[in-house]
Amino acid sequence: MAGPLGPAFFIPVTHPFLSLPATSLDDATHALAEPGALPLGGGTDLLVTIAEEIARPVVVVDLRSIPNSDAIVELPDARVRIGATARISDIAHNGLIQDRYSALAQACDVVGSPALRHMGTIGGNLCQRPRCWYFRQGISCLKNGGGSCPAVQGENHYLAIVDGGPCYVVHASDPAVALTALDADIEIASTKGVRSVPIGEFYTLPRDRLDQETILGSGEVVSGVVLPAEPAYAALLQALGERVDAVAKDLDVYAEDEPPPDFSLDTEVEGILREANAHRFDRFHLVGYSGGGASSLAFAALHGRRLLSLALLEPAWAGSDRTRVEEALMRRFRALESLPPDQFMAGFVRLQLAPGVEAPPPPEGPPPAWMAKRPAGVRAFIDAFDAGDLDLDALRAFDRPVYFALGGRSNPDYYGLIAGRLAEIFPDFTLETFHERHHFDPLHRIEPERLAGSLLALWQRAEA
Ligand SMILES: Cc1cc2nc3c(=O)[nH]c(=O)nc-3n(C[C@H](O)[C@H](O)[C@H](O)COP(=O)(O)OP(=O)(O)OC[C@H]3O[C@@H](n4cnc5c(N)ncnc54)[C@H](O)[C@@H]3O)c2cc1C
Ligand code: SF4
Repeated sequence: MAGPLGPAFFIPVTHPFLSLPATSLDDATHALAEPGALPLGGGTDLLVTIAEEIARPVVVVDLRSIPNSDAIVELPDARVRIGATARISDIAHNGLIQDRYSALAQACDVVGSPALRHMGTIGGNLCQRPRCWYFRQGISCLKNGGGSCPAVQGENHYLAIVDGGPCYVVHASDPAVALTALDADIEIASTKGVRSVPIGEFYTLPRDRLDQETILGSGEVVSGVVLPAEPAYAALLQALGERVDAVAKDLDVYAEDEPPPDFSLDTEVEGILREANAHRFDRFHLVGYSGGGASSLAFAALHGRRLLSLALLEPAWAGSDRTRVEEALMRRFRALESLPPDQFMAGFVRLQLAPGVEAPPPPEGPPPAWMAKRPAGVRAFIDAFDAGDLDLDALRAFDRPVYFALGGRSNPDYYGLIAGRLAEIFPDFTLETFHERHHFDPLHRIEPERLAGSLLALWQRAEA
């Protein structure tokens, strides 16, 4: 049948309403501007609240029919946008999300049940109504217009134990917790356009208003969630917690679309100096992974007095003083250079794994924008390693604690030899081997708690 807003049909639940499949975001926001219109995601909560007579819509505007409204894409500036109708299960299994925002993938993976994850959308999950038993059963309480909160004396499992009152309801969304830790932004659309707010400002407290749990105004709808770029170290920073004032820095080689034409390790050393000075770190602990580890070594050789300690997570280079085995490996890296980008990257990954270790599968879907920069950046680093020199005497004089994390499944003729060489150079050197890990399932993402523990121990010793 057809309704005043276009094609529609009736669903026979306790309260009749029209269902309108939106054809575009513009279409949806105009429909939602009408009184009595509510947005529909997977319907796993909305249909229940209608049955519970908490929601009484005249029309529900189905957002899932908006083309690409469920897309998970990397934006040109390396942030990642999740469309509001992306299913919870699709987010949990998306390679890009698993790779770069594992906390979100894990949070989505524990939502309710497989059926709920399959039907539920991220927009609906973030905007689901609270699950307080009294509220859901229609028992008089503050949230439905009553004069007091029966949960205070009654059934209050799972309600707020800190900062509650006068209503003690908590939000049920697991993804919202991960998105808060990741500093995500919520994109909000209406007929006036699209605005964006940090998720920390998206929810309201019961003491501020009782009738709803978000700041969404009349006719506003969540159109997407945007995750910040460079969260590769988010899990580690979270594990370190507020005990440390940590700053994650991306490599300067990836700052622009192409590496700087005169790129060398000095470029990265200058980048570390710039970041440290910008944060007014006089002396600090430095942690570097892969190319960042090589850059950290170069930094220690040039500016060792600025460092309290040095942590190296499989640095990709440790000077030109290489063994014959390492020289042979460098020739094999060089031989890859004539290959097209995808074959170059596949060969580059293989050379860094122990024999027999399988390379991780590429993320699902189209390759993200940041990946396009990788081949040129890797080539620039290989050139810099070949041309670079490391002042080993300066490293021998570096008397601060040095920590080296080695993956047991990484190429022993590469990272194992580097670890062995550095063990003989640094006077205070500790090696920790993570037997199940390799260079491409790095500790800061896969075992952030364990790595955080090792780093905190290193830093405590350095500051003692
Ligand atoms: C038994 C059970 C267990 C559950 N366990 C968990 C759990 O462990 N963790 C967890 O996180 N969740 C849990 N949930 C909640 C479940 O995940 C939500 O029902 C689901 O995520 C809602 O998604 P949906 O797309 O179906 O929302 P819908 O039902 O379509 O919508 C929910 C609400 O959000 C509004 N809405 C929908 N889309 C938007 C949008 N884009 N913008 C603004 N408003 C919108 C709707 O109008 C409605 O008010 C559980 C639910 C049940 C029934
Ligand atoms: S906690 Fe809030 S929703 Fe639950 S009974 Fe009390 S006032 Fe109502």
